[in-house]
Amino acid sequence: MKQFVVIGLGRFGSSVATTLAEADFDVLAIDQNQERVQGIANKVTHAVEADATDEEALKTLGVRNFDVAVVSIGDNVSANILCTLILKELKVPYVIVKAPDALHGKVLTKVGADRVVYPERDMGVRIAHNLISSNVLDY
Ligand code: ATP
Repeated sequence: MKQFVVIGLGRFGSSVATTLAEADFDVLAIDQNQERVQGIANKVTHAVEADATDEEALKTLGVRNFDVAVVSIGDNVSANILCTLILKELKVPYVIVKAPDALHGKVLTKVGADRVVYPERDMGVRIAHNLISSNVLDY
């Protein structure tokens, strides 16, 4: 069974973490904000307060043993990049990162992100396609 670490517990990160945990996967959730950690603690396997740009902290948490990392530190561009770099240096096999825009996404790819996602943009595209292919526009 794959093990997941989710870093940054905003709306996106916490939704990923709780959905994986509900599907019975092992999930380690990390955020530097104590309230965010407490808010998710009873929904995931482990929830820990830590700075995701602190390489020693990530090592101590055993992040290198996880199969997949999801990084979503939206409000802090440099932390998002630094955390991604550290995770790849620790040889986490698959790192998915949420990016606010394409330029940021390019940097994330350069530092080793295996997949970059743009949830707001992608959901906008999906909704538009849904509207085009359904009869909603007829009303
Ligand atoms: P959304 O809510 O749509 O997912 P977002 O990604 O902008 O948007 P934020 O509310 O900004 O979400 O959440 C980012 C989270 O990342 C916050 O909970 C914040 O505490 C956390 N965070 C920011 N910097 C660090 C860091 N260096 N280490 C750990 N967590 C961090």
